[in-house]
Amino acid sequence: MESSTVVTASPHHGLPAHEVVLLLQTHPHRGLSRSQAQERREQFGPNVLPETVGAGPLIRILRQFHHPLIYVLLVAGIVTALLREYVDAAVILAVVLVNAVIGFVQESRAEAALQSLRAMVHTHARVVRDGVERTVTSEELVPGDLVLLEAGDKVPADLRILRETELRVDESALTGESAPVTKAEARLPEATPVADRCNTAHSGTLVTAGTAAGIVVATGAETEIGQIHRLVGAAEVLATPLTAKLARFSQILTVAILGLAAATFALGLLRRQDPVETFNAAVALAVGAIPEGLPAAVTITLAIGVTRMAKRRAVIRRLPAVETLGSTTVICTDKTGTLTENEMTVRRIWTPEESVEVTGSGYAPDGSLLTPEGAVASPDGNAALRWTLLTGAACNDAAVTCREGRWQVTGDPTEAAMVVAAAKAGLPPDSVGTELPRRATIPFTSERQCMATLHGWGAGDHVVLVKGAVERVLEMCDSQMQADGSPRPVDRAAVTEAAGRFAAGGLRVLACAVRTPYEADRFGDDDPFGALTFTGLQAMLDPPRAAATPAVTACHTAGIAVKMITGDHAGTASAIATAVGVLDRADTHSDKVLTGYELAATPADELPEAVQRASVFARVSPEQKLRLVEALQQKGHVVAMTGDGVNDAPALRQANIGVAMGRGGTEVAKDAADMVLTDDDFATIEAAVEEGRGVFDNLTKFITWTLPTNIGEGLVILVAIALGATLPILPTQILWINMTTAVALGLMLAFEPKEAGIMTRPPRDPAQPLLTTALMGRILLVSGLLVAGSWWLFEWELAHGAEVTEARTAALNLFVVVEAFYLFSCRSLTRSAWRIGLFTNRWLIAGVAVQAVAQVAITYLPAMNAVFETAPLDTGAWLRIFGIATAVSLAVAAEKTFRAQSSAPRSSR
Ligand code: ATP
Repeated sequence: MESSTVVTASPHHGLPAHEVVLLLQTHPHRGLSRSQAQERREQFGPNVLPETVGAGPLIRILRQFHHPLIYVLLVAGIVTALLREYVDAAVILAVVLVNAVIGFVQESRAEAALQSLRAMVHTHARVVRDGVERTVTSEELVPGDLVLLEAGDKVPADLRILRETELRVDESALTGESAPVTKAEARLPEATPVADRCNTAHSGTLVTAGTAAGIVVATGAETEIGQIHRLVGAAEVLATPLTAKLARFSQILTVAILGLAAATFALGLLRRQDPVETFNAAVALAVGAIPEGLPAAVTITLAIGVTRMAKRRAVIRRLPAVETLGSTTVICTDKTGTLTENEMTVRRIWTPEESVEVTGSGYAPDGSLLTPEGAVASPDGNAALRWTLLTGAACNDAAVTCREGRWQVTGDPTEAAMVVAAAKAGLPPDSVGTELPRRATIPFTSERQCMATLHGWGAGDHVVLVKGAVERVLEMCDSQMQADGSPRPVDRAAVTEAAGRFAAGGLRVLACAVRTPYEADRFGDDDPFGALTFTGLQAMLDPPRAAATPAVTACHTAGIAVKMITGDHAGTASAIATAVGVLDRADTHSDKVLTGYELAATPADELPEAVQRASVFARVSPEQKLRLVEALQQKGHVVAMTGDGVNDAPALRQANIGVAMGRGGTEVAKDAADMVLTDDDFATIEAAVEEGRGVFDNLTKFITWTLPTNIGEGLVILVAIALGATLPILPTQILWINMTTAVALGLMLAFEPKEAGIMTRPPRDPAQPLLTTALMGRILLVSGLLVAGSWWLFEWELAHGAEVTEARTAALNLFVVVEAFYLFSCRSLTRSAWRIGLFTNRWLIAGVAVQAVAQVAITYLPAMNAVFETAPLDTGAWLRIFGIATAVSLAVAAEKTFRAQSSAPRSSR
């Protein structure tokens, strides 16, 4: 059946399934052979979406010119050239070009950073090749591959369904319709539109329920989503609420400044000043005052933040999350696997007449069952113990294998622990499988809180084995098994008391029960979840993660509440919550721990208050998670919520930050999330919050640096024209200051490390405006000092015999030196510059060095002197420049101290 080429382009949905199999030269059960898959990989390439058209370098560089400021500059450049001011025109055009190149490079870097993040979260697919099931990355799929789907998967390619059980798919990625649709094997008319092709599971859609096997009919660009992707192009990946706010802010600012520039020009004409010079001055005002570095700084700061988060194992899927993380006020976290290791070891087995301890640790089946007296307990002497162990091992889909001396788990660790416990008691998986061959399964779900399996037993009999949450199993039992195998009415009080005791010790408790004989050989209408005989409890330890306690403490210090949401027993949840610090040891208030039943009984209007008060939510169903998020949001909280299952998706979407588990989470959860934790660890969320706060700080620092300097530049010109005085700085010189300092100085703030104490202050209020009163005060102070300082220096130099070019060069250098000094001040929003440590941001030092070289060049190189109309300065001028810059820095430091003192009583609340 091996063949070199296959055809994929035909409309598969119009053919019967067996013809699709024939056409694609594959096998409905064995799939492709490895060599076929290899050949097709070469023929069709990897299963990835194509690069978007329109995102080529040329288009992107052209996009850099699409900016009102650039239009102004281009017009100014042309007019200047027409006025035969060729040098000035060349400088303006050079600035435009440099600006475009810098913008392009930065945008590309930011996009590349985000792109590489996407590659960190792989989608995996289960494929059958040569009759063997294996897991591959979805890139490796080729047409003809037999792919298996289950609830929670992302469909990895366009699949023609061959077999399915209750398959339901969320196709909103493709059709926009969010209600899941049912898929089934069928032959459809060829004209059936994509949205109605119920025999095909489309790439990029999500399996919300059921299982299926399907044949890949299209990969990569040939899939339906691939076609749409090509048409629509990449989504705007770099937009966040903050960038939108900034874009609006820049637009308003640009219009205002252009108006001011026009007014300046008119004023100059009225005063009968030289029109050419006035025009140039108006252009200089516009160029100087518009903070053109702002968009680039925002993009680059966000991109650096995202990369830093990825290094700490938090992958951002939606950029706004970077900002929102900094304002998070509540983190709702799962228990198992996030606060705990998810490495279960059964410690105690309790049966109505005997309680045994299980020794040994980890998943190695080394250990034994000990009675309270220390004797080895044998399951042969106690039927209830034997059935408890058998149920744990047989009603189970996990496997424990030893590879290279290490015991590894496939499947659910809770189940793996029970396989190990049985093996320690002399009931290894093989013998259990032989004794109890499985006939049917009702899988575990968080909603059902239990699992049931049906097995053949003895000579033609059947037995149902059930394990699950204690309350759930107990309510289905009417008897309990004694050590001799005889039934007795179930003593619920004794079982509940024992389970409560184990739970209070932080152990996860599962109850086991059997029903025998069971009349049918498959689960039918006859309810398998009734008339059960309780056999015993298995209590297992899942140690808290070492990093969880410090991370929870750090969150509390940072004013962030941590709430545990779990499907586990309230006792177990409280014990673990206390161990990691979510619950205070001294806190015995019952309203701190709420169960799902209590939540359901709470009236809607009391829910927000109750949810805000509680720290632990036990026996919560995934549906209730959504209500919890909504209740907290009603209280004005910014909520981060973790989740891993299909049913967690609505809560993840509703949360301000949905957090999915990279290792244990389903694709559906990852798709709904804003952030994916590659290590599933709670401490990573705390790290991401810290980075998020850092990003926002750095953005604020850039704004604090750029606005006063821009406004100062504009004001100098404005004052000169208004007074009819000689310009202390020429338009081309303003251009020089603006372009060089934005790149060499301002952008370096994006690399600023996080400030100490970033996690000791309360979360940022998302409603806080960009320009706070404090920031406006700072803008006024620094811009005022810049204007006064440069005017004074300019006039002083002139008065003491300097040429105009020399005096201007001094003013130009003063601007740059003040900006460089002020840059150090902006490294902390609250603390003074020298308390941060000079060398903690090496980028900044490098930037200052580059700027210094540039200033020496523009001051002393004859060629640059000619272009920029500058002249060499003597030592005295430099001393005055540095003197003024120091005075400005001292003034800013004094303002910071004053503000810190006057706001201290408020922040210590
Ligand atoms: P979280 O991960 O949110 O902290 P959890 O993993 O403890 O929660 P679930 O997986 O929903 O919560 O489990 C809820 C309860 O169901 C558990 O306390 C346990 O009693 C029972 N349970 C868990 N896993 C299984 C399983 N594989 N088979 C049967 N019962 C199970």
